[in-house]
Amino acid sequence: MPIMQRRTTVTTWVGPVPVGSCHPIVVQSMTNTDTADVEKTVEQVAALAETGSEMVRVTVNNDAAAAVVGEIVIRLEARGVTVPIIGDFHYNGHLLLAKYASCARSLAKYRINPGNVGAKRRDENFRTIVQVAIDHGKPVRIGVNWGSLDKALLTEMMDENAKRSEPFDARDVMLDAMIESAIRSAALAEETGLGHDRIILSAKMSRVEDLVDVYCRLAPKSDYPLHLGLTEAGMGTGGIISSTAGLSILLQQGIGDTIRVSLTPRPGGDRTEEVRVAQQVLQALDLRRFTPQVTACPGCGRTTSTFFQEMAEEIHTYLRQQMPAWREQHPGIEDLNVAVMGCIVNGPGESKHADIGISLPGTAEEPKAPVYVDGKLFRTLKGDGIVGEFIEILNDYVARKYEAAAAPVR
Ligand code: SF4
Repeated sequence: MPIMQRRTTVTTWVGPVPVGSCHPIVVQSMTNTDTADVEKTVEQVAALAETGSEMVRVTVNNDAAAAVVGEIVIRLEARGVTVPIIGDFHYNGHLLLAKYASCARSLAKYRINPGNVGAKRRDENFRTIVQVAIDHGKPVRIGVNWGSLDKALLTEMMDENAKRSEPFDARDVMLDAMIESAIRSAALAEETGLGHDRIILSAKMSRVEDLVDVYCRLAPKSDYPLHLGLTEAGMGTGGIISSTAGLSILLQQGIGDTIRVSLTPRPGGDRTEEVRVAQQVLQALDLRRFTPQVTACPGCGRTTSTFFQEMAEEIHTYLRQQMPAWREQHPGIEDLNVAVMGCIVNGPGESKHADIGISLPGTAEEPKAPVYVDGKLFRTLKGDGIVGEFIEILNDYVARKYEAAAAPVR
């Protein structure tokens, strides 16, 4: 089934990054450092940006954090990192943004959670943040989260539902309350004076089924660009799979303009994993390309030695290590397709479909590895140096097919 047409026609610019309309779906991420720790936050933002995060969100939760946001942005720029920085505000955003002008100025977007702007002065606090956004020419994301859904609104809708002759299921009311919170808040932002094209919406849930339901209901109700993400997706494989499942269903329906994969890293784990997973989701759906696609067979009883696994790993690692330089030197390199296959059953076929592929010998097969280039047998490798020779052929192919980028004019 082909990917459906995107639904929004609106583009919201976050710094230099367009979100929505016909623009590529944007990958974003969030730091988990104490924002007030400038050193660590700068390091992590730089790592996320270098991995490919196109926007990075930092929490701005107190005076200490708000006071250093400007310095963080300056230090990043000094390192050549120009990724837009988004401020994540809860409870006290109206106070911090009004108090710290450099924070308000330096951020490329403010994330407001309408459920966390105060109970008594909810609208007033919300308007204050929006007014700061207007004054500084910034867009906002109205980010509803089911864990912090506006309780007054939910109660109001639950009460209305209870009066129906046939009340809806409580889950349905909760999903509708998420949407209502986002739509009403966006209307309030526009009434305050924020442009229609300065708003992005999100309605994050922690269960895949709920996430899909809420976005399928939200998407037809507005044309604001949508930020997608499964909130609190969890750790490791479970978090990756849940996020991939939820995002893929929605993206396949043309819903979503920017995505984040919210993985809980293991202690001391690598925060950049969430960026790579988000890129892989988009790449697997053929929505964007970030890196050469490696088709590798899983191996089976025909590949009983570890030789095949080691070679597949070496080629993967080589490609990953080359990519930062290749991206600069060889425009279009991310479109490269490489196949690393385990035996004669599917090896030659898959290798012929790739731009360049190698079919390794399975157990008991003759110890030779045919290499295919652009669908034709190019050479047959033998002996201990197969990996090195294949990489040489790969390098030649890349240099030939993806012409070197023009050197900068000095
Ligand atoms: S290509 Fe060969 S080794 Fe790989 S999974 Fe298929 S049969 Fe097994």
